[in-house]
Amino acid sequence: TFTPSSRVRRIKVSPSTAAAARVRELKAEGRPILDLTVGEPDADTPRHVKDAAIAAIEAGETKYTSVNGTPALREAIRERMLRSSGIEYPDAAITVGGGGKQIIFLAFTASLDEGDEVIVPAPYWVSYPDMVRANDGTPVIAETTPEDGYKLTPRLLRESLTERTRWLVLNTPSNPTGVAYSRAELEALAEVLEEAPQVRVLTDEIYDEIYFGEGRMVGLAEAAPALRERIFTVNGVSKSYAMTGWRLGYGVGDPELVRAVNLLQSQTSSCPSSISQAAAVAALTGDQECVRRGVEIYRQRRDRALELLAGIDGLEAVVPDGAFYLFVGCRGLIGRRTPEGGTLENDQDVTLYLLESADVAVIQGSAYGTEPFFRMSYATDLGTIEAALRAVGEAVARLR
Ligand code: PLP
Repeated sequence: TFTPSSRVRRIKVSPSTAAAARVRELKAEGRPILDLTVGEPDADTPRHVKDAAIAAIEAGETKYTSVNGTPALREAIRERMLRSSGIEYPDAAITVGGGGKQIIFLAFTASLDEGDEVIVPAPYWVSYPDMVRANDGTPVIAETTPEDGYKLTPRLLRESLTERTRWLVLNTPSNPTGVAYSRAELEALAEVLEEAPQVRVLTDEIYDEIYFGEGRMVGLAEAAPALRERIFTVNGVSKSYAMTGWRLGYGVGDPELVRAVNLLQSQTSSCPSSISQAAAVAALTGDQECVRRGVEIYRQRRDRALELLAGIDGLEAVVPDGAFYLFVGCRGLIGRRTPEGGTLENDQDVTLYLLESADVAVIQGSAYGTEPFFRMSYATDLGTIEAALRAVGEAVARLR
């Protein structure tokens, strides 16, 4: 029999991956599931990006690249960071990997030792705590509140810090809430961090282009130049350019950390796909109209979904500034009875009830560290969103 390592025994399958698998199963059985679990854009990868990949294949760019990516891609990332943050990063500050996910994992592998603490504000993207655990660290969950808009405050940050804190993880705009930090909020957090020199910040800004506010989103590196050496910004092409399957992300920050991440990549993947790298260059340097169009579509869907949710008694949505998720509070449904005679005790029960009784798939808030909520994605067509929320409304109306 196979015994997994203690490292593996500490972690679980990502609940979003598990939910997606369950939806596929039910669909295969013929159930007409309205799937709001998806964590990826429904749009196709832009034509000019595909063309760049095809051209790379034809030109024989089909070999290993340097561990930290092709010079053309690092240059595209450097320009993109300059455009978005106003910061001029040296080439040695940039690395690329098989998705932002891999970069985050390797940043932890590169820096954590047993007992090191990582502050993760909740609600959080499901992977952060397990990535910390898999790398011998201890996640310290900082519970944000509705009053603070589900964002980390200077006070909560101060309370969560210890001598063992190595990292703070920020995610703006957030998966699952969609809320983004303002410049002033980031500056206030930076002030606390200035007094905690042992702490680095991993800021996951993978949704920064999908932003509904005025102008562009302000990232941490831009808001807190004094902390620049300690900020590791993670981004990628998956969400902004509908390129989740290409597996290409990047990290930018302290060249010494980047060197350690590169060392790990040299002994694991060697480099991300050369073809995906060529495609990412086209995405980052090409026409950005595809991004703007995407944002407008998400904004319309968000507004329509909020409108429909407002008409459902017992549900309360957090209004997102970006990304493509709604985090919906369902405290008003807890304790109610289903027509079958069961009682909804928690958000897992609510999620199951919606799946069984409305054919609507969402993910329970407890997976993101905050209850009772569910996350619904609006990275799906408006017709599905409307049909799903109508079915949710009817299912909720059947509760006693
Ligand atoms: N960070 C957040 C908050 C995400 O939601 C995701 C994807 O779901 C990622 C990072 C990883 O994206 P990728 O590995 O495709 O770059």
